[in-house]
Amino acid sequence: ESYTRINEVEDKVKAFLTLDEENARKKAKQLDESVTEENSGNVLFGMPIGVKDNIVTKNLRTTCGSKILENFDPIYDATVVQKLQQAETITIGKLNMDEFAMGSSNENSAYQATRNPWNLDHVPGGSSGGSAAAVAAGEVPFSLGSDTGGSIRQPAAYCGVVGLKPTYGRVSRFGLVAFASSLDQIGPVTRTVEDNAYLLQAISGVDPMDSTSANVNVPNFLSALTGDVKGLKIAVPKEYLGAGVSEEARKSVLDALKVLEQLGAEWEEVSLPHSRYALAAYYLLSSSEASANLSRFDGVRYGYRTDNADNLLEMYKQTRAEGFGDEVKRRIMLGTFSLSSGYYDAYYKKAQKVRTLIKQDFDDVFKKYDVIIGPTTPTHAFKIGEKIDDPLTMYANDILTIPVNLAGVPGISVPCGFSKEGLPLGLQIIGKHFDESTVYRTAHAFE
Ligand code: GLN
Repeated sequence: ESYTRINEVEDKVKAFLTLDEENARKKAKQLDESVTEENSGNVLFGMPIGVKDNIVTKNLRTTCGSKILENFDPIYDATVVQKLQQAETITIGKLNMDEFAMGSSNENSAYQATRNPWNLDHVPGGSSGGSAAAVAAGEVPFSLGSDTGGSIRQPAAYCGVVGLKPTYGRVSRFGLVAFASSLDQIGPVTRTVEDNAYLLQAISGVDPMDSTSANVNVPNFLSALTGDVKGLKIAVPKEYLGAGVSEEARKSVLDALKVLEQLGAEWEEVSLPHSRYALAAYYLLSSSEASANLSRFDGVRYGYRTDNADNLLEMYKQTRAEGFGDEVKRRIMLGTFSLSSGYYDAYYKKAQKVRTLIKQDFDDVFKKYDVIIGPTTPTHAFKIGEKIDDPLTMYANDILTIPVNLAGVPGISVPCGFSKEGLPLGLQIIGKHFDESTVYRTAHAFE
C-alpha cells in the first residue's frame, strides 16, 4: 500500500510535493470494481505511480519545484498522464524536483530537499530526485521523470533504481513544462528493467500534440528481455573511464563488462573525441532554450504575481525576481546573453556545431557496435550541501549523461553495485536511435 509506506518514510525522504490521496483511493475503488478478464492481463492495472512535478496533471497542483507556480492547477493532462490513465494506473502524487529541472541534487527545489533513501545525509540526485527516491524508498513502484541532461539517469544511479531516457521523440512532450525543448524527454523510473519496459510501452508513441514526437513503430519492449546477449558488440569509450571517474565507479563498470562477457558479449575500447566539449555546449544550448521557454512566466498567464509593483513592466520584473530561484535566474541570464545579437554566432551557433560533432561521434561508434557502456556518474551520491555553492562542480556531475541528450539517443542507468560507503553506483547503457530494445536487453541480461 503506497500511502502506508509514504506515511512511514515520507517525513525523512521528502520525495513528494503534492499527494492526491482522495482521488487515488476513489480511482482504486473504481478499478477494483471494474476487474474483468480482459483487463486482468494488464500488468500496470491499478499500479500506483508518482509523477514528476513538471508534468502537468489536470486539477492537480503542478509547481515545477518553483515558487512561481506555487498555486498552479493545470486545466489539462499531459499526454503521458492520459496514457497512464488508459493503462489504468493510479497517480499517487507529484514528485519533488530541482526548480524547472535545473540541477543535479534536488537542492534547487523551492520547497524541500529530497534525501537519498540509502543515506539521508546524501542527495538523491536531480533533477528527478523525487522520482528516484520515491521508488528507492518503496513509496511507489513506478514513477515518471524527465531528462534533459541526465535528470533521470543520474538520480536513478544515486538511488539504486532503473531509469531510462528514451530516444528524443519516442515519448510525447505535450504537457511537460519545457526546459530545453530540443533535449527534454520524459522517461520511466522503476525497480527493475522489466517494470521499466512496461512503463515505457505504455507512454510511447507519436502524438499529434507534439510535432517532435516521432512517427516510428513502437516495438514490443518486453519481448526484448530474452537474457541473450551472445555476440552483442559493446563499445566502452575511454573518455568515460578517465580522469574524474572514481576508482570504485570504474571498477563496477569493468566488473559489469566481465559479467556481460561471460554471457557471450564482446567489448572494446573506443573514443568519443568530442565528449570533452559536451558540458560546455550543453549548458550553453540548454540555457538558451530555457531563457526563451521561461519567458512565459510573466505574472499574467500563470501562477505567482507580485503585489509590489505600480506598473506593468515593474510587475513583470518583480514577479520574476521574486518567483524564480538563483539557479533559474543564472541560466536565464546566460541564455539571454548567448542568444543576443553580436554574441549569437560566437556562442549559440558554435555550440550547435559542437552538438553536431558529438552526434557524429555516436553515429561513428554505432556503425560497428550495438551499445555503448560506461558509468552513469563519476562518483556515488554526494552529500547535501557539498556542491550547492559551486555551480561549476555541480554541472560537472553530468559529464557522462549529457552527450546522450545532445545526440538524442536512448540511455538507461541500472544499479551495478555499491561504493565502500554503501551508496549505489549506476551502469549506463546507451543505444542507437529508437533502439531501446537492445538497451533493455543488455540491461536485463546484466541485472
Ligand atoms: N543537471 C542537469 C542540469 O542541471 C540536467 C538537468 C536535467 O536533465 N533536467 O541541467
